[in-house]
Amino acid sequence: NLEKQKGNLINSISISFEFFPPKNEESITRLLSDINEFTTLNPSFISITCSPHKKTTNHTYKLIKKIKEQNRIHTVPHVTCINHKKKELKTIAKKYWKNGVKSILALRGDKIKNSNSNTMYAIDLINILKTTGNFNVYVAAYPEVHPEAKNPTFDLLNLKNKFLAGANSAITQFFFNAETYLRFRDKCSKIGIYNDIIPGILPIVDIQQLKRFSSMTNVNIPIKIFKLLDNLTPNSIQFNIISSYITNSIIDVLYREGVRKFHFYTLNKLYLAHSIAYILKMKNFSEK
Ligand code: FAD
Repeated sequence: NLEKQKGNLINSISISFEFFPPKNEESITRLLSDINEFTTLNPSFISITCSPHKKTTNHTYKLIKKIKEQNRIHTVPHVTCINHKKKELKTIAKKYWKNGVKSILALRGDKIKNSNSNTMYAIDLINILKTTGNFNVYVAAYPEVHPEAKNPTFDLLNLKNKFLAGANSAITQFFFNAETYLRFRDKCSKIGIYNDIIPGILPIVDIQQLKRFSSMTNVNIPIKIFKLLDNLTPNSIQFNIISSYITNSIIDVLYREGVRKFHFYTLNKLYLAHSIAYILKMKNFSEK
């Protein structure tokens, strides 16, 4: 049965997509319809970011509920703990569990200037989740080291401890050098981490925005990328073709090195992530 065989082969690559909750109803409706188009790619899950600001936590929950109702895709809310009390986090976890959301990306969240952030870490949130329900927990990992980490070894041990506390898989910060991820994957297995470390792939939609992101995250952007994109208008055809070439080149190396799970940061700009993920799924089929 060729069709069935074809389906199985395409499915052996697992892709997932990250979106953020839009601010108004009109954009939410548009996003839901766009997400519908992603279902043709059979994503493993769609994750929805969560602002570290307490006031907006409910935006993630509302969007997750809508996606579940309308698109029936497996959804993964991000939950941050830095601006919440333990009791509040327990309530959030219970609400998700009760509504059939059984996977969560557990994060500390970024510190907000001039706010009374607590001293919680992602590991504390994992403990809360695991005592509330048997959640499938994703966590963040940093191939180029988290900017606040005391040193790279400390950061790697923090990741290992998140797994020891019950996390199931990690999704990495974005990176633009495939070797960076591969070296990190090696370091993880050297210290006894055997869980999935899913590479976070960021198709570039705006080079100025990327410069801001990288200064906040310590992510290195190779000069070559600036040379290729700096003088092009974001969202122009030329920009998108070159940006897609850059991301596909990274994915090619990862794929050759055996990576089969990919998480796309879409920044709610769907066309690039969609077409890159489409090529990725087809690649698997055409190479068999
Ligand atoms: P942790 O794992 O708790 O680590 C935070 C820092 O503290 C690290 O430097 C670690 O080495 C250090 N550390 C850990 N334990 C200790 C300790 N006991 N003593 C001293 N230092 C310690 N942010 C959002 O606000 N919303 C989102 O939706 C969101 N989504 C993300 C998705 C992905 C895939 C990734 C990679 C990041 C995302 N972030 C998001 C960003 C993330 O919240 C920040 O990077 C945050 O600063 C750290 O979160 P963490 O869960 O990695 O923290």
